[in-house]
Amino acid sequence: LGGALITTQAHRSHALTHTHHPRKIALFGGSFDPVHSGHMAVARAADRRFHFDELHFIPSGRPPHKQRYELAPYAHRFAMTGLACADHPHFIPSLAEAGSDLSGRQVFYSIDTVRHFRHIYNHRGDKLFFILGADSFLEIATWREYEALLNTCDFIVASRPGFRTDALRLVIPPELLARPKEGEPLDSHAIHLRRSTVHLLDTVSSHVSATEVRKRLDRGQSVHGLVPLRVEEYISKQALYR
Ligand code: ATP
Repeated sequence: LGGALITTQAHRSHALTHTHHPRKIALFGGSFDPVHSGHMAVARAADRRFHFDELHFIPSGRPPHKQRYELAPYAHRFAMTGLACADHPHFIPSLAEAGSDLSGRQVFYSIDTVRHFRHIYNHRGDKLFFILGADSFLEIATWREYEALLNTCDFIVASRPGFRTDALRLVIPPELLARPKEGEPLDSHAIHLRRSTVHLLDTVSSHVSATEVRKRLDRGQSVHGLVPLRVEEYISKQALYR
């Protein structure tokens, strides 16, 4: 199957060589344990602003940092992500971190995942965007090769209640920042780096977290409205998070 995946991607890449339409591709990674309404709000808001050709939801394999809790099996997290993408023609559930045996047991670093997509979307003008919440961006200095990552693609940072967006600039090494043009006021919607841009998406304000969803399910409470309807059904049919 791993081979089939690679063939499909090579085929798609080949099929597009004649069109030369520069593509806007968004990568949205997370544990998605489970994917919830906050994630969907972020994806829709980013899509409304940037009009992506494709927005890839990438459930993480085994996380690089040891988690405080055991993640639900990859197969379930991927299935739920697929269901959440169902009504959106260009929201794509991605197996990029499934690993060669599709078990999701391999550790993937974002820098490698971004390079993988860069390899596929390699036509002139193709642009990659990495979507994440403000809480995740504030921790970016702990990620592998984060300086290279910041230089590799644009970022879209979604505001998240409880996390200050005015602190985002502080986690970027000063030498990566573009020199401000004289007399120009600071752009409140973007941080300009020498080789990329960190866009701030402050049109989302969702209090939903996967932790809260799991807690409610564990207590036997409803998660109606906190996760997409199809995901709610899936969780109930599979008796997850109890
Ligand atoms: P957990 O509660 O298990 O830590 P989570 O709700 O943060 O999970 P993840 O799958 O870890 O969900 O998140 C994937 C990405 O989505 C991260 O970059 C995170 O910052 C972002 N994100 C998740 N929920 C929100 C939200 N309500 N608003 C903005 N960003 C969010």
